[in-house]
Amino acid sequence: MSAYRCPGCGYVYDEVKGEPREGFRAGTPWRAIPVTWCCPDCGVREKPDFELVMERTPRGA
Ligand SMILES: [Zn+2]
Repeated sequence: MSAYRCPGCGYVYDEVKGEPREGFRAGTPWRAIPVTWCCPDCGVREKPDFELVMERTPRGA
């Protein structure tokens, strides 16, 4: 599962959590989000603007 961040306001769409406000259930993959979907927080940025959030797994720390 990945997460995607709005470059405008920092909102993060997490595939694990989905976005119930927008009608996307938990576990809804990013590819299932309509291209025309825009950020629910700022309403300015659209899906293609979002950036993949690289998940880092701490090891040996
Ligand atoms: Zn935004």
